[in-house]
Amino acid sequence: MNLDSLKFYSLVSRWTFPKTYPGKIMLVAFIGTHIPLIVLIIDAAFSSATTPRAIVSTLIITLIATLVGTAATLYAIHHLLSPVVLTSKVLRKYLKQRQRTNLPNNFQDEVGTLMADTNRTLGKLDEIIEHLTDYDSLTGLPNRELFQTHLQQAIQTTAEDQQFALIVLDIDSLKEINSTLGRIVGDLLLRKVAQRIISYIEPGDVVARFGGDEFAILRTNIINSDSAIILSNRLLESLSEPFSLYGKEIHCAAKIGITIYPFDGTSIEQLLQNADTAIHQAKQESLNTYQFYSPAINAQLKRILAIKENLRHALKRQELSIYYQPRIEIATSRLVAVEALLRWQNPELGFVSPAEFIPIAEETNLIMPIGEWVLYNACLQNKRWQQEGIAPLRMSVNLSIGQFKQTTLIETIDRILRDTNLDVAYLELEITESLLVKNVEQAIAILRELKKRGISIALDDFGTGYSSLSYLQKLPIDTLKIDRSFVTNIASNPDDAAISKAIVALAQSLELNITAEGVETKAQYHYLQNQGCHEVQGYYFSKPLPSEQLKKFVLSYCGSR
Ligand code: C2E
Ligand code: MG
Ligand code: MG
Repeated sequence: MNLDSLKFYSLVSRWTFPKTYPGKIMLVAFIGTHIPLIVLIIDAAFSSATTPRAIVSTLIITLIATLVGTAATLYAIHHLLSPVVLTSKVLRKYLKQRQRTNLPNNFQDEVGTLMADTNRTLGKLDEIIEHLTDYDSLTGLPNRELFQTHLQQAIQTTAEDQQFALIVLDIDSLKEINSTLGRIVGDLLLRKVAQRIISYIEPGDVVARFGGDEFAILRTNIINSDSAIILSNRLLESLSEPFSLYGKEIHCAAKIGITIYPFDGTSIEQLLQNADTAIHQAKQESLNTYQFYSPAINAQLKRILAIKENLRHALKRQELSIYYQPRIEIATSRLVAVEALLRWQNPELGFVSPAEFIPIAEETNLIMPIGEWVLYNACLQNKRWQQEGIAPLRMSVNLSIGQFKQTTLIETIDRILRDTNLDVAYLELEITESLLVKNVEQAIAILRELKKRGISIALDDFGTGYSSLSYLQKLPIDTLKIDRSFVTNIASNPDDAAISKAIVALAQSLELNITAEGVETKAQYHYLQNQGCHEVQGYYFSKPLPSEQLKKFVLSYCGSR
Protein backbone atom coordinates (compact mmCIF):
# COMPACT_ATOMS: atom_id res chain seq x y z
CA MET A 1 0.00 0.00 0.00
CA ASN A 2 1.30 3.45 -0.93
CA LEU A 3 1.59 5.42 2.27
CA ASP A 4 3.01 8.60 0.60
CA SER A 5 -0.35 10.25 0.85
CA LEU A 6 0.05 10.18 4.62
CA LYS A 7 3.16 12.41 4.59
CA PHE A 8 1.31 15.66 5.29
CA TYR A 9 -0.96 14.00 7.84
CA SER A 10 2.12 12.54 9.47
CA LEU A 11 3.64 16.06 9.74
CA VAL A 12 0.49 17.65 11.10
CA SER A 13 -0.12 14.79 13.54
CA ARG A 14 3.06 15.83 15.37
CA TRP A 15 1.60 19.23 16.24
CA THR A 16 0.91 19.41 19.91
CA PHE A 17 -1.67 22.15 19.36
CA PRO A 18 -4.42 21.59 18.50
CA LYS A 19 -4.35 18.07 19.86
CA THR A 20 -7.36 16.59 18.14
CA TYR A 21 -7.72 15.60 14.51
CA PRO A 22 -10.77 17.85 13.87
CA GLY A 23 -8.91 20.69 15.62
CA LYS A 24 -5.98 20.26 13.27
CA ILE A 25 -8.28 20.30 10.21
CA MET A 26 -10.02 23.41 11.49
CA LEU A 27 -6.71 25.15 12.13
CA VAL A 28 -5.49 24.33 8.63
CA ALA A 29 -8.79 25.62 7.17
CA PHE A 30 -8.64 28.70 9.34
CA ILE A 31 -5.09 29.56 8.23
CA GLY A 32 -5.93 28.80 4.59
CA THR A 33 -9.02 31.01 4.49
CA HIS A 34 -7.12 33.87 6.09
CA ILE A 35 -4.33 33.97 3.50
CA PRO A 36 -6.12 36.65 1.33
CA LEU A 37 -6.75 38.82 4.37
CA ILE A 38 -3.14 38.51 5.53
CA VAL A 39 -1.92 39.34 2.05
CA LEU A 40 -4.26 42.34 1.94
CA ILE A 41 -3.04 43.63 5.30
CA ILE A 42 0.60 43.22 4.25
CA ASP A 43 -0.13 44.95 0.96
CA ALA A 44 -1.89 47.82 2.71
CA ALA A 45 0.93 48.14 5.17
CA PHE A 46 3.60 48.49 2.51
CA SER A 47 1.79 50.67 -0.11
CA SER A 48 0.12 53.95 0.45
CA ALA A 49 -1.10 54.31 -3.13
CA THR A 50 -4.65 55.38 -3.61
CA THR A 51 -4.68 55.68 -7.38
CA PRO A 52 -7.25 53.55 -9.26
CA ARG A 53 -4.39 51.61 -10.79
CA ALA A 54 -2.95 50.83 -7.39
CA ILE A 55 -6.36 49.76 -6.09
CA VAL A 56 -6.82 47.45 -9.10
CA SER A 57 -3.39 45.95 -8.43
CA THR A 58 -4.30 45.37 -4.77
CA LEU A 59 -7.53 43.72 -5.88
CA ILE A 60 -5.65 41.46 -8.31
CA ILE A 61 -3.15 40.48 -5.58
CA THR A 62 -6.03 39.79 -3.21
CA LEU A 63 -7.76 37.67 -5.85
CA ILE A 64 -4.60 35.67 -6.52
CA ALA A 65 -4.04 35.29 -2.76
CA THR A 66 -7.62 34.05 -2.38
CA LEU A 67 -7.14 31.51 -5.16
CA VAL A 68 -3.78 30.31 -3.83
CA GLY A 69 -5.07 30.26 -0.26
CA THR A 70 -8.15 28.26 -1.20
CA ALA A 71 -6.10 25.84 -3.31
CA ALA A 72 -3.55 25.37 -0.51
CA THR A 73 -6.33 24.81 2.04
CA LEU A 74 -8.09 22.29 -0.12
CA TYR A 75 -4.79 20.52 -0.84
CA ALA A 76 -3.91 20.39 2.86
CA ILE A 77 -7.36 19.15 3.90
CA HIS A 78 -7.29 16.56 1.13
CA HIS A 79 -4.03 15.21 2.52
CA LEU A 80 -5.25 15.41 6.06
CA LEU A 81 -8.22 13.23 5.06
CA SER A 82 -5.90 10.60 3.49
CA PRO A 83 -6.06 8.25 6.52
CA VAL A 84 -9.86 8.14 6.18
CA VAL A 85 -9.63 7.43 2.44
CA LEU A 86 -6.98 4.75 3.01
CA THR A 87 -9.06 3.08 5.72
CA SER A 88 -12.05 3.05 3.43
CA LYS A 89 -9.97 1.46 0.63
CA VAL A 90 -8.62 -1.21 2.99
CA LEU A 91 -12.11 -2.05 4.20
CA ARG A 92 -13.44 -2.24 0.66
CA LYS A 93 -10.59 -4.52 -0.45
CA TYR A 94 -11.23 -6.79 2.54
CA LEU A 95 -14.95 -6.96 1.83
CA LYS A 96 -14.49 -7.60 -1.87
CA GLN A 97 -11.46 -9.90 -1.95
CA ARG A 98 -11.02 -10.92 1.72
CA GLN A 99 -7.52 -9.51 1.46
CA ARG A 100 -6.18 -7.76 4.48
CA THR A 101 -3.78 -4.79 4.26
CA ASN A 102 -2.27 -3.42 7.40
CA LEU A 103 -2.73 0.30 8.07
CA PRO A 104 -0.15 2.23 10.11
CA ASN A 105 -0.87 1.98 13.80
CA ASN A 106 1.62 4.46 15.22
CA PHE A 107 -0.61 7.56 15.30
CA GLN A 108 -2.37 8.64 18.44
CA ASP A 109 -5.20 10.92 17.31
CA GLU A 110 -8.71 9.91 16.34
CA VAL A 111 -7.92 8.92 12.78
CA GLY A 112 -4.78 7.16 13.98
CA THR A 113 -6.82 4.98 16.34
CA LEU A 114 -9.37 4.48 13.54
CA MET A 115 -6.61 2.92 11.42
CA ALA A 116 -5.26 0.80 14.30
CA ASP A 117 -8.76 -0.35 15.27
CA THR A 118 -9.53 -1.22 11.65
CA ASN A 119 -6.45 -3.46 11.65
CA ARG A 120 -7.58 -5.15 14.82
CA THR A 121 -11.19 -5.51 13.71
CA LEU A 122 -10.17 -7.13 10.44
CA GLY A 123 -7.79 -9.46 12.30
CA LYS A 124 -10.62 -10.55 14.60
CA LEU A 125 -12.94 -10.96 11.61
CA ASP A 126 -10.36 -13.20 9.98
CA GLU A 127 -10.19 -15.32 13.14
CA ILE A 128 -13.96 -15.59 13.29
CA ILE A 129 -14.26 -16.52 9.62
CA GLU A 130 -11.47 -19.09 10.04
CA HIS A 131 -13.25 -20.48 13.08
CA LEU A 132 -16.50 -20.68 11.14
CA THR A 133 -14.83 -22.62 8.33
CA ASP A 134 -12.67 -24.86 10.55
CA TYR A 135 -14.91 -25.39 13.54
CA ASP A 136 -18.30 -26.82 14.15
CA SER A 137 -20.66 -24.02 15.16
CA LEU A 138 -22.75 -26.19 17.50
CA THR A 139 -20.03 -27.68 19.68
CA GLY A 140 -17.10 -25.38 18.93
CA LEU A 141 -14.98 -28.46 18.12
CA PRO A 142 -12.78 -28.68 15.01
CA ASN A 143 -14.76 -29.89 11.98
CA ARG A 144 -13.87 -32.71 9.59
CA GLU A 145 -11.65 -30.49 7.40
CA LEU A 146 -9.50 -29.27 10.27
CA PHE A 147 -9.37 -32.78 11.74
CA GLN A 148 -8.07 -34.08 8.42
CA THR A 149 -5.29 -31.49 8.54
CA HIS A 150 -4.29 -32.80 11.96
CA LEU A 151 -4.51 -36.35 10.64
CA GLN A 152 -2.19 -35.47 7.78
CA GLN A 153 0.27 -33.92 10.23
CA ALA A 154 0.13 -37.04 12.40
CA ILE A 155 0.88 -39.24 9.37
CA GLN A 156 3.90 -37.08 8.55
CA THR A 157 5.30 -36.85 12.06
CA THR A 158 4.62 -40.25 13.65
CA ALA A 159 7.94 -41.99 14.28
CA GLU A 160 8.55 -45.49 12.92
CA ASP A 161 8.24 -47.19 16.28
CA GLN A 162 5.12 -45.26 17.19
CA GLN A 163 1.46 -45.43 16.25
CA PHE A 164 -1.57 -43.25 16.45
CA ALA A 165 -5.18 -44.11 16.99
CA LEU A 166 -8.12 -42.68 15.09
CA ILE A 167 -11.24 -43.19 17.14
CA VAL A 168 -14.62 -42.48 15.58
CA LEU A 169 -17.62 -42.25 17.87
CA ASP A 170 -21.23 -42.41 16.79
CA ILE A 171 -24.23 -41.47 18.94
CA ASP A 172 -27.00 -43.95 18.40
CA SER A 173 -30.23 -42.35 19.40
CA LEU A 174 -29.79 -38.81 18.06
CA LYS A 175 -32.30 -39.25 15.22
CA GLU A 176 -34.99 -40.48 17.57
CA ILE A 177 -34.30 -37.68 20.03
CA ASN A 178 -34.50 -35.10 17.21
CA SER A 179 -37.78 -36.46 15.95
CA THR A 180 -39.46 -37.06 19.29
CA LEU A 181 -38.12 -34.25 21.46
CA GLY A 182 -37.11 -31.75 18.78
CA ARG A 183 -33.90 -30.43 17.33
CA ILE A 184 -33.22 -28.05 20.20
CA VAL A 185 -32.95 -30.96 22.58
CA GLY A 186 -30.88 -32.89 20.02
CA ASP A 187 -28.49 -29.93 19.68
CA LEU A 188 -28.12 -29.64 23.43
CA LEU A 189 -27.41 -33.35 23.64
CA LEU A 190 -24.63 -33.00 21.07
CA ARG A 191 -23.10 -30.15 23.05
CA LYS A 192 -23.20 -32.19 26.23
CA VAL A 193 -21.74 -35.23 24.47
CA ALA A 194 -18.92 -33.00 23.22
CA GLN A 195 -18.27 -31.79 26.77
CA ARG A 196 -18.12 -35.34 28.11
CA ILE A 197 -15.73 -36.40 25.37
CA ILE A 198 -13.50 -33.39 26.05
CA SER A 199 -13.34 -34.24 29.73
CA TYR A 200 -11.52 -37.50 28.88
CA ILE A 201 -9.10 -35.99 26.44
CA GLU A 202 -5.40 -35.72 27.18
CA PRO A 203 -3.04 -32.97 26.05
CA GLY A 204 -2.12 -33.64 22.43
CA ASP A 205 -5.42 -35.33 21.53
CA VAL A 206 -7.62 -33.74 18.88
CA VAL A 207 -11.40 -34.04 19.12
CA ALA A 208 -13.66 -33.11 16.22
CA ARG A 209 -17.29 -33.27 15.26
CA PHE A 210 -17.70 -34.73 11.82
CA GLY A 211 -21.27 -33.50 11.60
CA GLY A 212 -24.50 -35.27 12.47
CA ASP A 213 -23.95 -37.63 15.35
CA GLU A 214 -20.32 -38.46 14.55
CA PHE A 215 -17.30 -37.40 16.59
CA ALA A 216 -13.65 -38.27 16.07
CA ILE A 217 -10.61 -38.36 18.31
CA LEU A 218 -6.99 -38.48 17.27
CA ARG A 219 -4.56 -39.84 19.84
CA THR A 220 -0.97 -39.60 18.69
CA ASN A 221 2.40 -40.97 19.85
CA ILE A 222 1.23 -44.23 21.32
CA ILE A 223 3.20 -47.48 21.38
CA ASN A 224 0.26 -49.85 21.41
CA SER A 225 -3.51 -49.68 21.27
CA ASP A 226 -3.99 -49.98 25.04
CA SER A 227 -4.60 -46.29 25.59
CA ALA A 228 -7.13 -46.21 22.71
CA ILE A 229 -8.98 -49.12 24.32
CA ILE A 230 -8.92 -47.50 27.74
CA LEU A 231 -10.15 -44.19 26.31
CA SER A 232 -12.90 -45.94 24.33
CA ASN A 233 -14.08 -47.82 27.39
CA ARG A 234 -14.14 -44.64 29.44
CA LEU A 235 -16.06 -42.76 26.77
CA LEU A 236 -18.60 -45.54 26.37
CA GLU A 237 -19.03 -45.77 30.10
CA SER A 238 -19.41 -42.02 30.47
CA LEU A 239 -21.86 -41.69 27.56
CA SER A 240 -24.02 -44.48 28.91
CA GLU A 241 -24.76 -42.27 31.94
CA PRO A 242 -28.05 -40.38 31.40
CA PHE A 243 -28.03 -36.74 30.22
CA SER A 244 -30.18 -34.16 31.89
CA LEU A 245 -31.69 -32.01 29.13
CA TYR A 246 -34.28 -29.34 29.91
CA GLY A 247 -35.31 -31.22 33.00
CA LYS A 248 -35.57 -34.57 31.19
CA GLU A 249 -33.31 -37.56 31.71
CA ILE A 250 -32.16 -38.84 28.36
CA HIS A 251 -30.25 -42.03 27.69
CA CYS A 252 -28.16 -42.42 24.58
CA ALA A 253 -25.80 -45.14 23.45
CA ALA A 254 -22.59 -44.82 21.50
CA LYS A 255 -20.52 -46.96 19.16
CA ILE A 256 -16.81 -46.61 18.60
CA GLY A 257 -14.62 -47.64 15.67
CA ILE A 258 -10.86 -47.64 16.11
CA THR A 259 -8.13 -47.66 13.49
CA ILE A 260 -4.46 -47.74 14.23
CA TYR A 261 -1.85 -46.08 12.04
CA PRO A 262 0.15 -47.54 10.34
CA PHE A 263 -1.44 -51.02 10.62
CA ASP A 264 -4.90 -50.14 9.32
CA GLY A 265 -3.85 -47.60 6.74
CA THR A 266 -1.25 -45.01 5.88
CA SER A 267 -3.40 -42.38 4.16
CA ILE A 268 -6.16 -40.13 5.49
CA GLU A 269 -8.72 -41.70 3.17
CA GLN A 270 -7.81 -45.26 4.13
CA LEU A 271 -7.82 -44.53 7.84
CA LEU A 272 -11.14 -42.70 7.76
CA GLN A 273 -12.70 -45.38 5.59
CA ASN A 274 -11.46 -48.14 7.87
CA ALA A 275 -12.67 -46.29 10.94
CA ASP A 276 -16.07 -46.19 9.22
CA THR A 277 -15.93 -49.91 8.55
CA ALA A 278 -14.98 -50.52 12.17
CA ILE A 279 -17.89 -48.44 13.40
CA HIS A 280 -20.25 -50.36 11.14
CA GLN A 281 -18.90 -53.57 12.60
CA ALA A 282 -19.46 -52.13 16.05
CA LYS A 283 -23.05 -51.35 15.04
CA GLN A 284 -23.66 -55.01 14.35
CA GLU A 285 -22.77 -55.74 17.94
CA SER A 286 -24.69 -54.77 21.02
CA LEU A 287 -24.89 -51.20 22.29
CA ASN A 288 -21.94 -49.40 23.82
CA THR A 289 -19.11 -51.28 22.18
CA TYR A 290 -15.93 -50.42 20.41
CA GLN A 291 -14.49 -52.29 17.47
CA PHE A 292 -11.08 -52.33 15.90
CA TYR A 293 -10.87 -52.19 12.16
CA SER A 294 -9.33 -55.58 11.53
CA PRO A 295 -11.57 -58.36 12.78
CA ALA A 296 -8.60 -60.59 13.53
CA ILE A 297 -6.70 -57.90 15.40
CA ASN A 298 -9.91 -56.81 17.04
CA ALA A 299 -10.58 -60.26 18.40
CA GLN A 300 -6.98 -60.72 19.47
CA LEU A 301 -6.77 -57.34 21.21
CA LYS A 302 -10.06 -57.86 22.95
CA ARG A 303 -8.91 -61.23 24.18
CA ILE A 304 -5.62 -59.85 25.47
CA LEU A 305 -7.52 -57.12 27.25
CA ALA A 306 -9.97 -59.61 28.71
CA ILE A 307 -7.06 -61.78 29.86
CA LYS A 308 -5.39 -58.74 31.45
CA GLU A 309 -8.60 -57.76 33.17
CA ASN A 310 -9.46 -61.23 34.44
CA LEU A 311 -5.95 -62.28 35.33
CA ARG A 312 -5.81 -59.48 37.89
CA HIS A 313 -8.47 -61.22 39.94
CA ALA A 314 -7.49 -64.81 39.14
CA LEU A 315 -5.56 -65.43 42.36
CA LYS A 316 -8.13 -63.77 44.59
CA ARG A 317 -10.98 -65.63 42.91
CA GLN A 318 -9.12 -68.92 43.22
CA GLU A 319 -9.21 -69.60 39.50
CA LEU A 320 -5.61 -70.81 39.37
CA SER A 321 -4.48 -74.33 40.03
CA ILE A 322 -1.37 -76.37 39.48
CA TYR A 323 -1.09 -79.58 37.47
CA TYR A 324 1.88 -81.87 37.79
CA GLN A 325 3.53 -83.78 34.98
CA PRO A 326 5.65 -86.82 35.87
CA ARG A 327 9.23 -87.11 34.76
CA ILE A 328 10.78 -90.55 34.40
CA GLU A 329 14.42 -91.51 34.81
CA ILE A 330 15.24 -93.71 31.83
CA ALA A 331 17.97 -95.80 33.48
CA THR A 332 15.76 -96.93 36.37
CA SER A 333 12.26 -96.30 34.89
CA ARG A 334 11.53 -94.55 38.19
CA LEU A 335 9.30 -91.53 38.53
CA VAL A 336 11.83 -89.07 39.90
CA ALA A 337 10.33 -85.67 39.42
CA VAL A 338 7.23 -83.70 38.47
CA GLU A 339 6.95 -80.38 36.67
CA ALA A 340 4.49 -77.90 38.15
CA LEU A 341 2.38 -76.41 35.35
CA LEU A 342 -0.01 -73.58 36.01
CA ARG A 343 -3.65 -73.87 34.94
CA TRP A 344 -6.23 -71.10 34.72
CA GLN A 345 -9.95 -71.67 34.41
CA ASN A 346 -11.94 -68.44 34.10
CA PRO A 347 -15.76 -68.23 33.96
CA GLU A 348 -15.68 -65.78 31.03
CA LEU A 349 -12.67 -67.05 29.07
CA GLY A 350 -12.82 -70.73 29.91
CA PHE A 351 -9.50 -72.55 30.03
CA VAL A 352 -6.60 -70.30 29.08
CA SER A 353 -3.26 -71.87 28.22
CA PRO A 354 -0.25 -70.72 30.23
CA ALA A 355 1.55 -70.22 26.93
CA GLU A 356 -1.01 -67.46 26.31
CA PHE A 357 -1.41 -65.87 29.72
CA ILE A 358 2.12 -66.16 31.16
CA PRO A 359 3.54 -63.57 28.69
CA ILE A 360 0.64 -61.25 29.59
CA ALA A 361 1.29 -61.82 33.28
CA GLU A 362 4.90 -60.89 32.57
CA GLU A 363 3.88 -57.70 30.79
CA THR A 364 1.56 -56.61 33.58
CA ASN A 365 3.91 -57.66 36.41
CA LEU A 366 1.21 -60.01 37.67
CA ILE A 367 3.78 -62.75 37.29
CA MET A 368 5.33 -61.75 40.64
CA PRO A 369 2.40 -62.68 42.88
CA ILE A 370 1.32 -65.54 40.59
CA GLY A 371 4.83 -67.00 40.33
CA GLU A 372 5.26 -66.82 44.08
CA TRP A 373 1.89 -68.52 44.54
CA VAL A 374 2.96 -71.38 42.23
CA LEU A 375 6.29 -71.77 43.95
CA TYR A 376 4.74 -71.84 47.41
CA ASN A 377 1.93 -74.26 46.52
CA ALA A 378 4.17 -76.57 44.50
CA CYS A 379 6.61 -76.82 47.42
CA LEU A 380 3.76 -77.28 49.87
CA GLN A 381 2.23 -80.02 47.72
CA ASN A 382 5.55 -81.78 47.42
CA LYS A 383 5.99 -81.74 51.19
CA ARG A 384 2.43 -83.08 51.64
CA TRP A 385 3.08 -86.02 49.31
CA GLN A 386 6.17 -86.83 51.30
CA GLN A 387 4.14 -86.63 54.50
CA GLU A 388 1.57 -88.94 52.89
CA GLY A 389 4.30 -91.53 52.40
CA ILE A 390 5.07 -91.13 48.72
CA ALA A 391 8.72 -91.62 47.79
CA PRO A 392 10.24 -88.12 47.59
CA LEU A 393 10.08 -86.44 44.17
CA ARG A 394 11.89 -83.44 42.77
CA MET A 395 9.45 -80.60 42.16
CA SER A 396 10.35 -78.62 39.03
CA VAL A 397 8.93 -75.09 38.94
CA ASN A 398 9.10 -72.73 35.96
CA LEU A 399 10.60 -69.36 36.71
CA SER A 400 9.82 -66.42 34.45
CA ILE A 401 12.08 -63.47 33.59
CA GLY A 402 10.09 -61.08 35.75
CA GLN A 403 10.51 -63.28 38.80
CA PHE A 404 14.13 -63.94 38.05
CA LYS A 405 14.94 -60.23 37.86
CA GLN A 406 13.21 -59.49 41.14
CA THR A 407 15.73 -58.54 43.79
CA THR A 408 13.73 -60.39 46.40
CA LEU A 409 13.82 -63.73 44.50
CA ILE A 410 16.34 -65.47 46.75
CA GLU A 411 14.64 -64.16 49.89
CA THR A 412 11.26 -65.37 48.62
CA ILE A 413 12.59 -68.83 47.83
CA ASP A 414 14.28 -69.08 51.24
CA ARG A 415 11.06 -68.07 52.95
CA ILE A 416 8.96 -70.54 50.95
CA LEU A 417 11.34 -73.39 51.71
CA ARG A 418 11.25 -72.44 55.37
CA ASP A 419 7.46 -72.06 55.47
CA THR A 420 6.75 -75.31 53.67
CA ASN A 421 9.59 -77.15 55.37
CA LEU A 422 10.57 -78.75 52.06
CA ASP A 423 14.07 -80.13 51.79
CA VAL A 424 15.89 -78.00 49.22
CA ALA A 425 17.08 -81.18 47.43
CA TYR A 426 13.52 -81.64 46.19
CA LEU A 427 13.25 -78.32 44.44
CA GLU A 428 14.30 -77.62 40.86
CA LEU A 429 13.86 -74.35 39.02
CA GLU A 430 13.38 -74.18 35.25
CA ILE A 431 14.69 -71.09 33.54
CA THR A 432 14.79 -70.23 29.85
CA GLU A 433 17.60 -68.82 27.79
CA SER A 434 15.74 -65.55 27.31
CA LEU A 435 16.55 -64.45 30.84
CA LEU A 436 20.23 -64.77 30.12
CA VAL A 437 20.12 -62.44 27.13
CA LYS A 438 20.36 -59.03 28.80
CA ASN A 439 22.82 -59.63 31.59
CA VAL A 440 24.50 -63.02 31.64
CA GLU A 441 26.88 -62.13 34.45
CA GLN A 442 24.09 -61.03 36.75
CA ALA A 443 22.05 -64.11 35.85
CA ILE A 444 25.03 -66.33 36.63
CA ALA A 445 25.44 -64.64 40.02
CA ILE A 446 21.77 -65.30 40.89
CA LEU A 447 22.01 -68.91 39.69
CA ARG A 448 25.12 -69.42 41.85
CA GLU A 449 23.19 -68.15 44.86
CA LEU A 450 20.44 -70.66 44.14
CA LYS A 451 22.91 -73.49 43.60
CA LYS A 452 24.69 -72.61 46.82
CA ARG A 453 21.46 -73.50 48.62
CA GLY A 454 21.32 -76.87 46.84
CA ILE A 455 18.51 -75.99 44.41
CA SER A 456 18.81 -77.72 41.01
CA ILE A 457 18.55 -75.61 37.89
CA ALA A 458 17.24 -76.79 34.50
CA LEU A 459 17.53 -74.86 31.26
CA ASP A 460 14.08 -75.23 29.69
CA ASP A 461 13.11 -75.26 25.99
CA PHE A 462 16.75 -75.69 25.03
CA GLY A 463 17.44 -75.11 21.36
CA THR A 464 14.60 -72.68 20.71
CA GLY A 465 16.17 -69.55 22.14
CA TYR A 466 19.38 -67.67 21.69
CA SER A 467 21.45 -70.77 22.40
CA SER A 468 25.02 -69.72 22.75
CA LEU A 469 27.49 -72.40 23.54
CA SER A 470 29.94 -69.92 24.99
CA TYR A 471 27.79 -69.08 27.99
CA LEU A 472 26.43 -72.58 28.43
CA GLN A 473 29.75 -73.71 29.84
CA LYS A 474 29.77 -70.89 32.39
CA LEU A 475 26.21 -71.45 33.56
CA PRO A 476 25.80 -73.10 36.94
CA ILE A 477 23.02 -75.44 35.77
CA ASP A 478 22.33 -79.13 36.23
CA THR A 479 19.98 -80.06 33.43
CA LEU A 480 19.27 -79.27 29.80
CA LYS A 481 15.67 -79.82 28.66
CA ILE A 482 15.45 -80.56 24.95
CA ASP A 483 12.49 -78.66 23.58
CA ARG A 484 9.44 -80.61 22.49
CA SER A 485 9.72 -79.27 18.92
CA PHE A 486 12.87 -81.42 18.37
CA VAL A 487 11.41 -84.45 20.09
CA THR A 488 8.21 -84.55 18.03
CA ASN A 489 9.90 -85.76 14.83
CA ILE A 490 12.96 -87.28 16.41
CA ALA A 491 12.28 -90.71 15.02
CA SER A 492 11.26 -89.55 11.52
CA ASN A 493 13.07 -86.33 10.72
CA PRO A 494 16.88 -86.69 10.37
CA ASP A 495 17.38 -82.95 11.08
CA ASP A 496 15.56 -83.11 14.41
CA ALA A 497 17.32 -86.33 15.21
CA ALA A 498 20.68 -84.70 14.50
CA ILE A 499 19.83 -81.70 16.71
CA SER A 500 18.75 -83.85 19.64
CA LYS A 501 21.84 -86.02 19.20
CA ALA A 502 24.04 -82.91 19.26
CA ILE A 503 22.27 -81.58 22.35
CA VAL A 504 22.73 -84.89 24.15
CA ALA A 505 26.42 -85.01 23.18
CA LEU A 506 26.86 -81.41 24.31
CA ALA A 507 25.18 -82.07 27.64
CA GLN A 508 27.34 -85.14 28.16
CA SER A 509 30.54 -83.23 27.49
CA LEU A 510 29.43 -80.52 29.92
CA GLU A 511 28.41 -83.24 32.38
CA LEU A 512 24.84 -82.03 32.46
CA ASN A 513 21.72 -84.09 32.89
CA ILE A 514 19.49 -84.24 29.90
CA THR A 515 15.71 -84.30 29.93
CA ALA A 516 13.53 -84.60 26.87
CA GLU A 517 10.07 -83.00 26.98
CA GLY A 518 7.06 -83.78 24.85
CA VAL A 519 7.71 -87.51 24.53
CA GLU A 520 4.50 -88.92 23.09
CA THR A 521 5.43 -92.25 21.54
CA LYS A 522 7.32 -95.40 22.27
CA ALA A 523 9.54 -94.78 19.25
CA GLN A 524 10.55 -91.36 20.58
CA TYR A 525 11.22 -92.84 23.99
CA HIS A 526 13.46 -95.61 22.63
CA TYR A 527 15.32 -93.23 20.38
CA LEU A 528 16.08 -90.92 23.35
CA GLN A 529 17.01 -93.91 25.48
CA ASN A 530 19.51 -95.07 22.87
CA GLN A 531 21.01 -91.62 22.62
CA GLY A 532 21.76 -91.53 26.33
CA CYS A 533 19.08 -89.13 27.48
CA HIS A 534 18.59 -89.24 31.28
CA GLU A 535 14.98 -88.28 31.90
CA VAL A 536 11.84 -88.03 29.84
CA GLN A 537 8.55 -86.23 30.27
CA GLY A 538 5.52 -86.36 28.02
CA TYR A 539 2.08 -87.66 27.20
CA TYR A 540 3.60 -91.13 26.58
CA PHE A 541 3.72 -91.43 30.36
CA SER A 542 1.19 -88.92 31.48
CA LYS A 543 -0.36 -85.57 30.77
CA PRO A 544 -0.04 -82.95 33.51
CA LEU A 545 -2.43 -84.00 36.28
CA PRO A 546 -4.12 -82.35 39.27
CA SER A 547 -2.49 -83.21 42.60
CA GLU A 548 -4.95 -85.94 43.60
CA GLN A 549 -4.66 -87.72 40.25
CA LEU A 550 -0.92 -87.34 40.27
CA LYS A 551 -0.83 -89.09 43.61
CA LYS A 552 -2.90 -91.97 42.20
CA PHE A 553 -0.62 -92.06 39.15
CA VAL A 554 2.47 -92.26 41.36
CA LEU A 555 0.98 -95.06 43.43
CA SER A 556 -0.14 -97.09 40.42
CA TYR A 557 3.11 -96.39 38.56
CA CYS A 558 5.20 -97.59 41.49
CA GLY A 559 2.82 -100.45 42.04
CA SER A 560 2.99 -101.54 38.41
CA ARG A 561 6.78 -101.72 38.42
P1 C2E B 1 7.18 -75.75 29.49
O1 C2E B 1 7.76 -75.35 30.79
O2 C2E B 1 8.12 -76.11 28.41
O3 C2E B 1 6.17 -76.93 29.79
C1 C2E B 1 5.97 -77.99 28.95
C2 C2E B 1 4.75 -77.83 28.17
O4 C2E B 1 4.62 -78.87 27.26
C3 C2E B 1 3.49 -77.88 29.04
O5 C2E B 1 2.54 -77.03 28.42
C4 C2E B 1 3.07 -79.31 28.92
O6 C2E B 1 1.70 -79.51 29.16
C5 C2E B 1 3.41 -79.59 27.50
N1 C2E B 1 3.67 -80.99 27.25
C6 C2E B 1 4.29 -81.86 28.05
N2 C2E B 1 4.35 -83.08 27.46
C7 C2E B 1 3.76 -82.97 26.26
C8 C2E B 1 3.52 -83.89 25.19
O7 C2E B 1 3.86 -85.04 25.22
N3 C2E B 1 2.90 -83.40 24.09
C9 C2E B 1 2.49 -82.13 24.02
N4 C2E B 1 1.88 -81.71 22.93
N5 C2E B 1 2.70 -81.21 25.02
C10 C2E B 1 3.34 -81.65 26.13
P2 C2E B 1 1.68 -76.05 29.23
O8 C2E B 1 1.32 -76.64 30.54
O9 C2E B 1 0.61 -75.56 28.33
O10 C2E B 1 2.70 -74.89 29.53
C11 C2E B 1 3.20 -74.10 28.53
C12 C2E B 1 4.29 -73.22 29.01
O11 C2E B 1 3.80 -72.27 29.94
C13 C2E B 1 5.34 -73.97 29.80
O12 C2E B 1 6.24 -74.59 28.93
C14 C2E B 1 5.99 -72.86 30.58
O13 C2E B 1 6.91 -72.16 29.80
C15 C2E B 1 4.81 -71.96 30.85
N6 C2E B 1 4.34 -72.21 32.23
C16 C2E B 1 3.48 -73.12 32.68
N7 C2E B 1 3.32 -73.01 34.01
C17 C2E B 1 4.12 -72.00 34.40
C18 C2E B 1 4.43 -71.38 35.66
O14 C2E B 1 3.94 -71.78 36.75
N8 C2E B 1 5.31 -70.36 35.66
C19 C2E B 1 5.90 -69.92 34.53
N9 C2E B 1 6.76 -68.89 34.59
N10 C2E B 1 5.65 -70.46 33.33
C20 C2E B 1 4.78 -71.50 33.27
MG1 MG C 1 9.10 -76.06 31.90
MG1 MG D 1 9.74 -76.62 27.97
